[in-house]
This record gives sequence, structure tokens and C-alpha cells, in this order.
Amino acid sequence: MLKSLQGKTVIVTGASRGIGKGIALRFGEAGLNVVAVSRSQSDAEAIAALIGPNAIGFGADVSTPEGCQAMAAAAVERFGGIDVLCANAGIFPAAKLGEMTAADFDHVINTNLRSTFLSVSAVLPAMTKAGQGRIVITSSITGPITGFPGWSHYGASKAGQLGFMRTAAIELAPKNITVNAVMPGNIFTEGLDGIGGDYIAKMEASIPMRRLGVVADIANAALFFASEEANYITGQQIVVDGGQVLPESMGALEAM
Ligand code: NAP
Repeated sequence: MLKSLQGKTVIVTGASRGIGKGIALRFGEAGLNVVAVSRSQSDAEAIAALIGPNAIGFGADVSTPEGCQAMAAAAVERFGGIDVLCANAGIFPAAKLGEMTAADFDHVINTNLRSTFLSVSAVLPAMTKAGQGRIVITSSITGPITGFPGWSHYGASKAGQLGFMRTAAIELAPKNITVNAVMPGNIFTEGLDGIGGDYIAKMEASIPMRRLGVVADIANAALFFASEEANYITGQQIVVDGGQVLPESMGALEAM
């Protein structure tokens, strides 16, 4: 049983759907004040409404310094500080090499990786002032461990987040700010609604636990990194994938 985080304040980027929505709802349930962020102000507000009066929705593009500064300012103004940042916003448009343009590459890197740097930079003054803080990055297995055709830019952004994390963790340790990452496998989100049973069945067949993850699986890992019990853990990553990265070949799955 984790000690209570009641009354602490978390910013969750990319909170309007998918994994970020799951994190926002889970942290709200744990009693934190939640600042739910997405580019769409109305979508962010809809999630805040689900959580209750201890939540606000905020519209910001976290790939820009202005968006991140405004998001941090809104959290401080409404709740008086920032205890936790869940840097989760991300996109994954597919483009294979030969077709991928420099603009495609930059868009993914800016949204996934630059936003991590910018959002961490924006919350630093409040966390430094408070003498403590928790940063939880949503990375992926794709990039740091695995690859998938069409996602070379995405994989680079997700591996880059972990490289960023390790030096950030060293630099911020004296300020009592931890920086850790969750690496999801295939998680069932609204984005997969209507994708078809065949596709889902193929994905499930590649996972030793024979099911896709759910957003709560990621949210619970993020909540652990935010907890007091995790206060001596920094610069680390946890894979949450039902064992997806473990089989060394198709044969390993067939031999189960
Ligand atoms: P999703 O359902 O598409 O949600 C993405 C969220 O990010 C939305 O709230 C979106 O809202 C927001 N967003 C996108 N660009 C933004 C920007 N520039 N500024 C602010 N908010 C922005 O995605 P997801 O599947 O939950 O993925 C969330 C994170 O998990 C990503 O970092 C992704 O790489 C990682 N991940 C996902 C999976 C998976 O299986 N789903 C697996 C591994 C890792 P707006 O469009 O309104 O901005």
C-alpha cells in the first residue's frame, strides 16, 4: 500500500485520451490535483470534468516553449505548485524511409522528444522552489528495445527520451527531483477501436500474457514512480508490456 499523494499536484500532458487519460484519471482517483493538458482545450476540460473539482483542463502545444510555460503557470496559479509531471504527450504517424520527409521527422521529434525537454524545463522553477519533484516520462518499447517499420523517427524520439532522462536525473538529483520512465508495450486505447479483430489477435499472439495492456497498467507504474516509496529511484525505466519483448524468436512463443 503506497503512502497517500492526496493534495499533491500533477501535470499530465496528452491527457485527453489514451494512456494520458488513464494516468490523469488514476492520479485523480489517488487524490492528486490534476492539470490535464492537450492541444484541444475542450477535450482537456472534458477529462478534468470526469475527475472533479480537483482538476482543470488546459489547452497547450507542448512542443513549444510558450505552451509548456503557460501550462506550468496555470498549475501554479490554480494549485500553488507542481509536485509531479507526467510527460506523456506523443504522436506516432507512420512513414517508411524513402517516403519520410524532414518535416515528418521533425514533427515527431518535436512532439515527442523536444516536448519532454520543454515540459521538464517549465516545471523546474516550481519543483526547485518546493525542494522536491517527480517527473515520469512515457517512452515506449519501440526505439529503446524494438523496432517497427514506419517508425524510425518515432523510435528515435522514444530512445532519445531515455537518453535525456539519464542526464536530467543526475542534474536534478541534488534538488530532490527524480526522473524516471515507463515503457509501454501495445496498450489498448481508443485509437485501436475499430482496427479489426484480426489485427488485435496478431498483436495478442506476440505477447506472452496473450493480451494487450490497458491504460491502467501504465498509470499504475507512473503512480509508483510518483510515490514516496520510489523516492530513491531515479534515471530508471520500467517496461510494462506483458512480456512482449522477451521471446527471442517466434519459436519461443510457439513453444509455450
Ligand atoms: P493518443 O491516444 O493518440 O493520445 C495522445 C495525446 O497527446 C492526446 O491527448 C493528444 O491530444 C496529445 N497531444 C498530441 N500532441 C500534442 C502536443 N503537441 N501538445 C499537447 N498534447 C499533445 O496516444 P497514446 O496511445 O495514449 O500514447 C500516449 C503516449 O504513450 C505517447 O507518448 C506514446 O508514444 C506512448 N506509447 C503508447 C503506446 C500505445 O500502445 N498506445 C505504446 C507505447 C508508448 P491533442 O491531439 O488534443 O493534442
